[in-house]
Amino acid sequence: MARYTGAVCRLCRRSGEKLMLKGGRCFTSKCAMDKRGKPPGQQPTQRRRISDRAVQLREKQKARYTYGILERQFKRFFAKAEKQSGITGENLLVLLEMRLDNVVYRLGFADSRAQARQLVRHGHIILNGHKTDIPSCLVKEGDTINWKPENTKSEYYQQLVQTIEAKSVSGWLSLDRQNIIGRVLSLPTPDDIDAKFDGKSIVEFYSR
Ligand code: SF4
Repeated sequence: MARYTGAVCRLCRRSGEKLMLKGGRCFTSKCAMDKRGKPPGQQPTQRRRISDRAVQLREKQKARYTYGILERQFKRFFAKAEKQSGITGENLLVLLEMRLDNVVYRLGFADSRAQARQLVRHGHIILNGHKTDIPSCLVKEGDTINWKPENTKSEYYQQLVQTIEAKSVSGWLSLDRQNIIGRVLSLPTPDDIDAKFDGKSIVEFYSR
C-alpha cells in the first residue's frame, strides 16, 4: 500500500504546526519545528496574503499528514463521511479516528501513528481474535485489540509492558494494562479528538 516516504518533519514545517508525527522525538529539542519553524524551501521576500483556498488546502493537508494518508484514500474517507448523516467535517474526523492504526496508537501500543501502522502491517495486532494487517480497517464499538500472542517475546513487546503503565488512553477506549488488551467502549465523538485541523475548511475545500 502506498505511503509517504519523504522527510516527516518537513510536513510539520509545511503546515506551520507541530503535528507530532515522530513520537518521542517531537517532545525533545531535536524537533525541527522548534529548531527552525519556517516552511521548507526558499522564503518569500514579501509577506503575501494567504487566500481562503490556501487555508482550506492547508487544513486538508494537515489532516492527511496527521493520519498518514495519501490523497486518494483521504478522498474515499471524505466521500464516506459525506454519505453519513450529520456534519460532514465531524463525520470525517470520527472516521479517521476509527482507523485501526490510529486506535493502536491511541492505546499506547506505539509512539506514533506511523509506528502503529507498521505494527499492524507486520501482523503484530489481533482484532477480535483475528490477525488484521490492514491499517485503514475501521473499528466498531465493542472491538478488542491485543498483541499477537506468538509475538509477545519480542524486545518491543517487553519494553511496551514496562512503559504502558504510564500511558493514558482516550475516553472512548479502555486498556487492560496487565494483559495489554484494548477495547473500544464507544465510537469517538469530535470532543474526544484533539484535532489539529478544521473539518469545516476541508469540506469547503472539496465543495469547490
Ligand atoms: Fe513535527 Fe515531531 Fe518532527 Fe517536530 S519532531 S517537526 S513535531 S514530526
